Amino acid sequence: MRPSYLGKILLRWCDQCHTPVLAQCCACGEKTREVPVTPPGDARPAFPADIALINKIYTDHFGAPLIPPGHLVLLNKVPDRDRMEEIVVGGGIAGIIRYFPDQRRWEPIPRPEACTLFIPKKRYVVVDDGAVPFIKDQGMSVLAPGLDFIDDAVCAGDEVFILAKDGTCVGVGRAKTDVATARGMEKGSIVRTRRNVASLIVPGAASWEAAVAANADVLDRAESSAVGFVREVTGQNPHLVANISYSGGKDSLATLLVVTKAIGKVPMLFADTGMEFPETYANVEEASRHYGLDVIRTDGKTTFWETFDRQGPPAVNARWCCRVCKLTPVANLIREQWGECLSFIGQRRYESAVRAQSKRVWRNSNVRAQLSAAPIQNWTALHVWLYLMREHAPYNILYERHLDRIGCFMCPSSDMALIHLIEAEYPDLWESWRLRLEQWQQVRGLSADWVTGGKWRLLEGCMDDEDSHY
Ligand SMILES: [Zn+2]
Repeated sequence: MRPSYLGKILLRWCDQCHTPVLAQCCACGEKTREVPVTPPGDARPAFPADIALINKIYTDHFGAPLIPPGHLVLLNKVPDRDRMEEIVVGGGIAGIIRYFPDQRRWEPIPRPEACTLFIPKKRYVVVDDGAVPFIKDQGMSVLAPGLDFIDDAVCAGDEVFILAKDGTCVGVGRAKTDVATARGMEKGSIVRTRRNVASLIVPGAASWEAAVAANADVLDRAESSAVGFVREVTGQNPHLVANISYSGGKDSLATLLVVTKAIGKVPMLFADTGMEFPETYANVEEASRHYGLDVIRTDGKTTFWETFDRQGPPAVNARWCCRVCKLTPVANLIREQWGECLSFIGQRRYESAVRAQSKRVWRNSNVRAQLSAAPIQNWTALHVWLYLMREHAPYNILYERHLDRIGCFMCPSSDMALIHLIEAEYPDLWESWRLRLEQWQQVRGLSADWVTGGKWRLLEGCMDDEDSHY
């Protein structure tokens, strides 16, 4: 799939601090360098559970964990059929992990630079010195005459490292044969070498506190610009009551912080769909208590199930759930409580092409009484995370459990990697949803994989209604 730029890629690295920096210059005074992430480049911190997953995937496949202790890691989602993430360590791309929904498994797709961090113990080949320049410089395949050693674990189709006799890595690629065949071959290709965008990895341990310090000026500037924006919009609309649209996600929490710094305490507006994770409800309570803000809640649960019974489950291209469970109840509430209001929303341009094109102040055609404003429109996910860390803000614990975006637990926009995780981690929650899907599948005479293969997430022959998103 084609990568798309939603804004300038701001991610850079300081080799003195061993941290990401969102500016040309680090707070330590050192000049930073680019990290060649795939656009849109909205990388986020990897939490300990993410690092454990990466290390498990690499250990299963290559016999050793990829990430050395103490290193900061970022994950950068890359457009793919399901889920694919670039792993940023030491300011370079060490590899990719990719999810195969049909097989319910992850595959590591390594980069040669990974060998600055670890030594593969399985699934590697060693080539003769004479073959090295052809493979390393010209990207040619590993041919049978140039093969010195092939590890026992290699099967056709496996990702493998290509090493020289002195142990240095000269490339990576996909094995074309299994080990028995390869050992008997006198000619022909054994590994198809893959060419990559080169990147520099400088290993070195660091803490997230150090990353916050390295970005001190960046965060001050981002905050004061967002605070200034909030004051400006509020000043231009003195007749409107302000509130913070709060979802339990990181972006709305960062928005809450800058809004309260700019104009003091205003209520949190929480559009409860009835389909949230228990941790999200807990986070709404915690944020409300921590900052002393009232929560005004709308309830979309009853209408969710009424609509489901008529129309079936919401789909990526028919997200009636947002309109029915959020927009309509919010519109009703605003009309009853204030007539009209000003809501600060945690929308960011790097989230999607639609949001990149959105104005910073707008009215949703479905909720005309709500003037919406996005103080952190130009922040990347890393701005948000570093800011939340600096402020010691109580973010939703789900982020530490592999969830990178917070929404309804059965959101049709989720990839299968996430849905399989939710099935495993929240069996009761998912079981109740699966039973509803099966009822609809049987009544409509749909195929079984409409449920199990996740096909319910896409409604055939339906156009998207962007304004129904919230
Ligand atoms: Zn630095």
